[in-house]
Amino acid sequence: MHPLCTELQAVVTSNVAPIQKAFDVYQSACFTTRPPEFFCLELCGEAGELANLEKKLWKGADISMDRVSDEAADVFISLMNYANARGIDLASAVTDKLSRIVASK
Ligand SMILES: [Mg+2]
Repeated sequence: MHPLCTELQAVVTSNVAPIQKAFDVYQSACFTTRPPEFFCLELCGEAGELANLEKKLWKGADISMDRVSDEAADVFISLMNYANARGIDLASAVTDKLSRIVASK
């Protein structure tokens, strides 16, 4: 495995789990419990909003990077909420996926 991939996996392992856990704690304390299907649809909706801005940028529209950043944040937040609602360990899933990507190259 490439040493940079090994380093990436170590960073993911050390940092993603506490971020995901903090989102779970916050979501549980401050918002209504929702099923994973809700968050999956929310994630798709937010990704669509981001894609729509990128489409407009591609066509030459004047879109502020604040709006793009805001939608990227929505995608990140909804992914965290989806993974928590579905019981997915994102750190483990990402490191496993990186290993499979490297193996397939
Ligand atoms: Mg949004």
